Formats: sequence, C-alpha cells, structure tokens
Amino acid sequence: MKKKQIVVIGLGRFGSSVCRELYQLGHEVLALDMDPEKVEDVTEFASQATVADATDKSQLKALGVRNFDQAIIAIGDDLQASVLCTLMLKEIGLEKVWVKARDMQHKRILEKVGADRVIQPEYEMGIRTAHHINSEKVVDYIDLSKDYSIVEMAATEKVTGKSLLQLDIRVKFNCIILAVKRGEDVNIAPHPTDVVREGDILVVMGHRNDLKKLEEKRL
Ligand code: ADP
Repeated sequence: MKKKQIVVIGLGRFGSSVCRELYQLGHEVLALDMDPEKVEDVTEFASQATVADATDKSQLKALGVRNFDQAIIAIGDDLQASVLCTLMLKEIGLEKVWVKARDMQHKRILEKVGADRVIQPEYEMGIRTAHHINSEKVVDYIDLSKDYSIVEMAATEKVTGKSLLQLDIRVKFNCIILAVKRGEDVNIAPHPTDVVREGDILVVMGHRNDLKKLEEKRL
C-alpha cells in the first residue's frame, strides 16, 4: 500500500481517532488543532502535531498543506470554520478534502464549497446500528450512495450447503454477491458453483429496497 501524506484538522473524538488509525496504518499524518491540549494528546500518534488555526490561510500554507495527498476536516460543530477551511484547502489546490458534517444542511453547504466527501459519523453509524438490530444476520452495512449499499450478512442455516447459483440472489432480489468471507479468507470473485458453508459471511451489494427485502427474507 502506498504511504499517503494526510492532514487531519480538528482533533476531537472523530479527528483524533482518524489520526491515530492512519498513523498506525503507516501513513504520514500532520495533526492540527487550535487547542494545545488536543495537540499534545496525539503527539505519539502523528508524524507531526501542531497548534494552528485552520481558518487562517497563511498558517495552512506555511505548514505546506498544499503538498499533502488528502485532508480530513473534523472541526466538530463549528460550521463556519469547517466551511471556510474546506474552501481554503480547495483553493490552495488540495485534491481530496473530506469533511465531517454536523447535519444534512451542513453537508449540503460543504458539498457546494467543494468538499470531495462529507462524512456524518453519527448518522452513518446510526443507520448501520439500525440494520444490525433489524436483522441479526447483518454483520455490517455500508452506504455507497443515496440508493445503493453493501451489506455483510451471516449465512443462515437456510443457505448453508447451497451453491450461489441455487440461491440466485441476482434474479430473486436484484442483488450481487461481491464476496464470501470464510474466517480470515475472503473470496472476492465467488463462482456460481461455490457452496455456502456454516459461518460464511456474504458480502452483498444492491439497491437499499432490494437489500431490505433480502434482510427480511430469512434466506
Ligand atoms: P468531536 O465531535 O469529533 O469530538 P469536537 O467538536 O469535540 O469534535 O472537536 C473539534 C475540534 O476542532 C476541537 O478540538 C477544536 O479545538 C478544533 N477546532 C475548532 N475550530 C478549529 C480551527 N479553526 N482550527 C483548528 N482546530 C479547530
């Protein structure tokens, strides 16, 4: 995996966890917050941690932010600051700017000013949690777009011993099985004749409505 240079702006719960994880994954991370205590907390988990105001263009430029591959802006509830920072990073020429949004309105504004991806952690996690609760077989749930998602489902007794061809999820539910996870192994191009075993996890992609039907139908 190529090592990336990433700047994480705002080191609250979300920003600091993104920072730590990226650093532990081997990326070069510049962590930035206006609160010296927050900066101090991540010094061990960043290549460089510094106190700066992310709404001050000259400070961002001085830090050489334009040379980074990507930025994550996680300035919690300060809507104005996150919008301004997004705008400036795009103006500076950063190719990928991902921003955490507080709500839908915030998300729309961020998209208008050029955010490449807007993340709503509570909202997204809420949806995933609801799907886990709705169907015990759902292991994970990822939104691809407004309409399409990927869901990971534990194979139930009903499907074990059957081949993917027999399940015929594509025709019956208009969904595609992208992969089958078996322990540590991931079969990313399952063959129609592959047989589902107990403990397998099926990674399925489809329209939200079709996936809902699939979740409800105890396959
Ligand atoms: P979370 O909900 O992820 O915990 P918080 O709202 O607690 O997020 O954290 C946001 C962080 O962003 C705070 O640490 C705050 O100091 C920082 N922050 C806010 N505005 C700026 C700014 N203009 N420049 C740099 N950091 C900022």
